[in-house]
Amino acid sequence: MNIIIASSNKGKIKEIQSWLPEHTITPYSEILGSFEIEETGKTFQENAIIKAQAISDKLREINYQDEHIIISDDSGITVPALNNEPEIYSARYAGLNANDTQNNEKLIKNLKEKNLQSTPAFYTACLAVAYKNKIYTTHGWMHGEVIDEQIGEGGFGYDPLFIPDGYENTLGILENSIKQELSHRSKALRLAMKMIGVLLK
Ligand code: IMP
Repeated sequence: MNIIIASSNKGKIKEIQSWLPEHTITPYSEILGSFEIEETGKTFQENAIIKAQAISDKLREINYQDEHIIISDDSGITVPALNNEPEIYSARYAGLNANDTQNNEKLIKNLKEKNLQSTPAFYTACLAVAYKNKIYTTHGWMHGEVIDEQIGEGGFGYDPLFIPDGYENTLGILENSIKQELSHRSKALRLAMKMIGVLLK
């Protein structure tokens, strides 16, 4: 099946591709060019649906004929000790075009201001699966702690600050296979794949 991913985040696309080697994964921009999808939702689920719907509408506009499924995702990290920041604003925590380093630096600064060397946090992922005029959503979560320094170069986004429950190291250090097992996105993706399997029967 041709799976079109409604994201241009290279980290996410690489992750999804490595987890679904038997499927053709196409970033939407390869078909439609890249365009801005405004994330105006108030929840991960609303934003995931907005992205899937936007891609679906554009594919209809160009009369795209290949059988396909669209998968969109919206995800982020929640730190309860920081009033649940940055949550749906994770990608734009330090500003609209902020990069991972700037976002991580802002989180570290806010932790240090509260004298927190580490504090509980969790990642959320909502996946929307658009297939034949219907949109289905799944969720996954990964719990752990965020710390006030970046350790390791692996993963992406907030991974160098995040230590999953049951581990001593950040996701910047831990093997990709461990993240694959534990991650919010892989949990949501497993449920989505189950949904897709049923839809395609
Ligand atoms: P989205 O592309 O609007 O869904 O924004 C997701 C943002 O949340 C990313 O840019 C990261 O900052 C953060 N994020 C989501 N999932 C992960 C992850 O698995 N590791 C690290 N950061 C993540």
